[in-house]
Amino acid sequence: MSLSEFDVIQKYFSNLTAGRADVKLGIGDDCALLQPTADQLLAVSTDTLVEGRHFLPGADPYSLGHKSLAVNLSDLAAMGAEPLWVSLALTLPSVDENWLGAFSKGFSNLARQFSLQLIGGDLTQGPLTISISIHGQVSEQQVLKRSGASENELVCVTGTLGDAAFALELLQKGIKPVEEQQIALDRPQPRLQTAQKLRGQASAAIDISDGLLADLGHICESSSVGAEIYLDQLPLSEAVREAVLPDHRWELPLSGGDDYELCFTLPESHQDLIDSWNRNNECLITIIGKTRSHKGIQCLLPDGSLWTPKTKGFEHFS
Ligand code: ADP
Ligand code: MG
Repeated sequence: MSLSEFDVIQKYFSNLTAGRADVKLGIGDDCALLQPTADQLLAVSTDTLVEGRHFLPGADPYSLGHKSLAVNLSDLAAMGAEPLWVSLALTLPSVDENWLGAFSKGFSNLARQFSLQLIGGDLTQGPLTISISIHGQVSEQQVLKRSGASENELVCVTGTLGDAAFALELLQKGIKPVEEQQIALDRPQPRLQTAQKLRGQASAAIDISDGLLADLGHICESSSVGAEIYLDQLPLSEAVREAVLPDHRWELPLSGGDDYELCFTLPESHQDLIDSWNRNNECLITIIGKTRSHKGIQCLLPDGSLWTPKTKGFEHFS
């Protein structure tokens, strides 16, 4: 016999994550009751993943549990916020206990890394859709926004770019990606450790979900600056480098989606910080360009000539 809605919540979600002292009442009533910290701003964000749109039909449920939470945590990282609470709205075609077991494991393994508590959600029947709202906290002095960049600052990114897009491209051609790219696509690691270091130091930040050009473009627009990017400085994995270099396929790291790395700007006087951060960080931080007074983003080849992309980042409804 198939489980009821309440059985599913009880079995798979009610004790999924560790408890926090600031959760006065968690799953089980009409609302969760939460005690925000005085003097901290709440950072709140929602992201939805739809089967066939954001992930391939039949995608591995453990990875889905991880990724749907990771993309939300990545938004907190981009603001410099510390994770607190999360709610999960699941739309499922049917109650599949194998799927629920693996999904909830992927979700909780990541949540427990950051003492994030699942405080509620919703369960409905329909096409597979995962919608997550996440809450974090950050002080007003330390919050990272898109709007704080000035001209002649360093443009930096975490990790490597284009791995997830490369994995997806291979999968769509029926080729199995190597493990590094498959993990980048399935289980991105939200850059919360880096975010902690950036708080109060970076002038602006964003997480790269729609491709570097599109997302750095948001920083530029919000901050009323432009930027130049040095293509030979882009951090690329071996496999992506081999795919990009022969035909100058820079669109892969510049416009491929789903990186979930951070892009941020830093005053030049803070350049030394990057070396010290890199000595002990979850990933490498690389300087890839500079903000400029001109509008727009210019991509420069090593000889100083301009390279023009054929595509921008991913946009729904375009
Ligand atoms: P209501 O009918 O008042 O909206 P529900 O019956 O949908 O409440 O949910 C009962 C409790 O279970 C609530 O506390 C809700 O937040 C929680 N809940 C429902 N679905 C989920 C889920 N997928 N994950 C975590 N908690 C959930
Ligand atoms: Mg409900």
